[in-house]
Amino acid sequence: MLLEIHKYGDPVLKQIAAPIDEITPELADLAASMGQTMYAANGVGLAAPQVGVSRRLVVVDVDYVGEKENGRRKKAGEKNLRVYINPEITWESAEDCAMDEGCLSIPGIEGEVYRPARVRVRYMDLQGNAREEEMDDLLGRCIQHEIDHLNGVLFPDRMSFLRRTRIAGQLNKLKHETVSHLVS
Ligand code: ZN
Repeated sequence: MLLEIHKYGDPVLKQIAAPIDEITPELADLAASMGQTMYAANGVGLAAPQVGVSRRLVVVDVDYVGEKENGRRKKAGEKNLRVYINPEITWESAEDCAMDEGCLSIPGIEGEVYRPARVRVRYMDLQGNAREEEMDDLLGRCIQHEIDHLNGVLFPDRMSFLRRTRIAGQLNKLKHETVSHLVS
């Protein structure tokens, strides 16, 4: 089922999401629907708050949708939907790297963000197994962006003051559109 993606300015994106203590069929359905919604939007990651559910659930696929070509992401491989429940960063590299980020909740806006190049993430999978993995490249980048969503943090919050100032007008416009959509 395709879900509505909540946009910048929606209060749900600023909330701290609640931990998940039980894996139910409804949770598995939500993860599947979030995957469908992410693929339909050509995204590489989606966090539950982005579909209006303030719970600590994230889906990522950095294999299926690859680099951008002519402004649109192109299909790069087979689908490999990764589901992370209650993900948390347990270690991060001292080395940072810069990458342009975008967000399905902030359409049309991109910006350069510095983040640790490599992180270790502890999480639970859909079968209820506790796992811990090291991640780098696009996956490491994406998981950090999605975990931020669970803590009410959006990528512009991580941009330098100067870069953020340059997109402030676009962000304000988007927020006004979202707020008028919410009240109508
Ligand atoms: Zn995002």
